[in-house]
Amino acid sequence: MKTSSENNRSATIINYKINELFQTIQGEGSFTGQPSIFIRLQGCPVACSWCDTKHTWNIDLDDAVDIKAMFTKPEESTTWAAMNVEQMLALVNEQGYQAKHIVITGGEPCMVDLTSLCDAFEQQGYSTQVETSGTFEVKVSDKCWVTVSPKIKMRGGYEILNSAMLRANEIKHPVATEQHVDDLKNLLKEHNIKHTPVYLQPISQKPRATTLAIDTCIANNWRLSVQVHKYLGIE
Ligand code: SF4
Repeated sequence: MKTSSENNRSATIINYKINELFQTIQGEGSFTGQPSIFIRLQGCPVACSWCDTKHTWNIDLDDAVDIKAMFTKPEESTTWAAMNVEQMLALVNEQGYQAKHIVITGGEPCMVDLTSLCDAFEQQGYSTQVETSGTFEVKVSDKCWVTVSPKIKMRGGYEILNSAMLRANEIKHPVATEQHVDDLKNLLKEHNIKHTPVYLQPISQKPRATTLAIDTCIANNWRLSVQVHKYLGIE
């Protein structure tokens, strides 16, 4: 039988497929304004029509690059690097990042077990957050802040999981039409979600979507999330 330290060691050898790792300001949800280190995983089958990270959808082995090439790429691309948590910690330390909040995003990061990634950073004093569509089981540390942005009736055909909705610390929903609002209300009812904070996020900063989000937030005592980073012109 393995000792716990052996288990820990074997956990650290999971290789995550990393599309990007960078420091910025979190622009969405409860942590808006928080200096954060974003770790973007490659791969997502959900296929949202308005997705602004379509370059993360496919995992093509021909797109595998080394860590330096991934980290220094000049613009968004489909390339990714296999990294274990020790390599991620080393890269973050080398950069001298001051942020102490890790945002694990994608793609759909919950396609893989993220527990060892959360644990490793939390043991070094970081807080962790995952952003997920709610269509995969959320495997993270107990302390990890879970943002579920439920992607309802998307082309990929994935259902929103009850386990993900119940684990959510916040629900962040993109809206552009009344139908999106109705879909969210039905989802909250279906999963009996009553107390989790709900954020509405206007899709693509369109004025009509923003007005709808403001009116709906006021009517339901929900919160507005405006993707501050897009207004600031930062990643
Ligand atoms: S779940 Fe996220 S990454 Fe995947 S298609 Fe939708 S918006 Fe894009």
